[in-house]
Amino acid sequence: MVYFVGAGPGAVDLITVRGKQLLETADVIIYAGSLVNPQLLEYAKPTCCIYDSAGMTLEDVIAVIEKAEQQRQLIVRLHTGDPSIYGAIREQMDILNEKQISFEIVPGVSSFCAAAAAVQAEYTLPHISQSVIITRMEGRTPVPDKQQIADYAAHGATMVIFLSASLLQQLQTELMKGGYSGKTPAAIVYKASWPEEQVYRCTIDTLAETAAAHEIHKTALILVGSFLGDSYERSLLYHPGFTHGYRQAEPEKQQYPDIK
Ligand code: SAH
Repeated sequence: MVYFVGAGPGAVDLITVRGKQLLETADVIIYAGSLVNPQLLEYAKPTCCIYDSAGMTLEDVIAVIEKAEQQRQLIVRLHTGDPSIYGAIREQMDILNEKQISFEIVPGVSSFCAAAAAVQAEYTLPHISQSVIITRMEGRTPVPDKQQIADYAAHGATMVIFLSASLLQQLQTELMKGGYSGKTPAAIVYKASWPEEQVYRCTIDTLAETAAAHEIHKTALILVGSFLGDSYERSLLYHPGFTHGYRQAEPEKQQYPDIK
């Protein structure tokens, strides 16, 4: 049995309880060494065989899994953050299905959640943004047509940009080409939730210079949008004038007051 486990964004105690229990029982752990906190491996039992997938191909990973599976071992494939975001798990799952090897996925805290926590922000603010676009700059991995940064920038929604810390000059250009003003607030979050976490607030037009000044070129997320600014409207959900399934509005309050 194979478990794809989300390791969380970095801090050792941000793995789920289920994920930790699986690490403690695993016979084999294959972890994404470039980003997974190696301290998590201390949960492994002494007899556990541990592989760093950073230097392995998909074929190598599958070979390790197949061999362990033949011995009916419990295998953890440990991915950074949540495995569903740039985790390259689909190709592994397809091969496991072909080989009739069972698997389950254990979600994790994605770095985009840890980054919001680091900047103490809410991505979805009433009247400002009700959508979060998770995307990346085109690099060696191509990005399909109509999914370029400029296409998404046109929406003015919250954007969380992965895998792009070394491409910030192009990112700025693309964001502005799509319609964002250069003065739109932005933040660079380096190693969210790790002890060495850093947050740099800037604007779209200063992303590249801010990263250069602090020598950030990897393991960072770029957050963009007015959710980082000061204005928003309070939520209806907790407004005294708003009735919903669990609460009746207070009669003297306006139904939808204009509160700034
Ligand atoms: N599955 C992971 C993302 C893997 S892609 C997740 O859910 O977070 C790897 C990219 O994620 C990195 O290049 C970086 O952009 C981002 N990343 C991963 N961990 C990070 C962290 N702790 N802080 C900031 N960015 C991080």
